[in-house]
Amino acid sequence: PVAKEPPKIHRLDESVVNRIAAGEVIQRPVSAVKELVENSIDADSTSINVVVKDGGLKLIQVSDDGHGIRCEDLPILCERHTTSKLSTFEDLQSIKSMGFRGEALASMTYVGHVTVTTITKGQLHGYRVSYRDGVMEHEPKACAAVKGTQIMIENLFYNMIARKKTLQNSADDYSKIVDLLSRFAIHHINVSFSCRKHGATRADVHSVATASRLDAIKSVYGVSVTRNLMKIEVSDDDPSTSVFEMDGFISNSNYIAKKITMVLFINDRLVECSALKRAIEIVYAATLPKASKPFIYMSIKLPPDHIDVNVHPTKREVSLLNQEVIIEKIQSAVEFKLRNSNESRTFQEQS
Ligand code: ADP
Ligand code: MG
Repeated sequence: PVAKEPPKIHRLDESVVNRIAAGEVIQRPVSAVKELVENSIDADSTSINVVVKDGGLKLIQVSDDGHGIRCEDLPILCERHTTSKLSTFEDLQSIKSMGFRGEALASMTYVGHVTVTTITKGQLHGYRVSYRDGVMEHEPKACAAVKGTQIMIENLFYNMIARKKTLQNSADDYSKIVDLLSRFAIHHINVSFSCRKHGATRADVHSVATASRLDAIKSVYGVSVTRNLMKIEVSDDDPSTSVFEMDGFISNSNYIAKKITMVLFINDRLVECSALKRAIEIVYAATLPKASKPFIYMSIKLPPDHIDVNVHPTKREVSLLNQEVIIEKIQSAVEFKLRNSNESRTFQEQS
């Protein structure tokens, strides 16, 4: 057979490349909220307020009282790979901020309309400016502003028809956003968070800054959860096995729920770890006769160079040094706690 002519290879238009990449970073409205709230946390905010319209497709607005953005930085703010958080690749090894890629804001401008209002300390007025496809649409306009930054994303995925359709058909992202803010609120207890639907007077998440983790959990998840929590702590500092500290709260045998709630922060990053989740679920199922699903909050700290945060653009997964050992240690600590509480309960019920 005659070989077919090979198709010609050509360079993709930059706007196509950027939109494709943006669709990976911002997969759905809740991913945009996560990026914005993490930016607010990185900006040392003590108050972060989120407003959402139409599950985030019409409007996402995140306001904070952080350090703000310098006027002279506004022209490049939403370009790809512009950041104040990272300079050299080696910095990644000790990075404390959530962000480092300088891609989130840029991505949002490729799949939505972004407006930034910001004021820095000591300024008499703030600036407002809008962005599309990475570039500033006009010179920043002077405006009244309170401390911090407000970022507004309108018409998310207006130029990604298929994405928009599937999101409109699927369950509303609003509950995912509420869930996300709840998680942030019980970890960053020195920050107050709120999340509401546009036009609503009542907030669906409302936390005030507190010194007590348990108070924070109570204000977000309710007393029915905190009543049944046990504090748990595990650590290891033997370099030949693993080096980490974990502290958290786990539900006892009186807690009843149909679904597991697992809130996991590793080095202050909200992440998922399916292996750890599974290990804990197994312990609960084996220890508790009625197989109630647990509530778990865990904060794991390890040396920064034991964790690779650069695994995925959404940074949802990280990889850890000695992951198996760490999981095993946590699993047996959970089992120990649970057995003890279960036995003391049986004892109480008998006596
Ligand atoms: P990254 O967080 O990876 O640096 P982003 O695109 O999310 O990238 O943000 C780009 C830069 O914009 C940040 O490095 C930060 O300097 C600035 N920035 C973004 N959001 C805020 C905010 N809420 N307050 C202050 N500065 C912000
Ligand atoms: Mg960021």
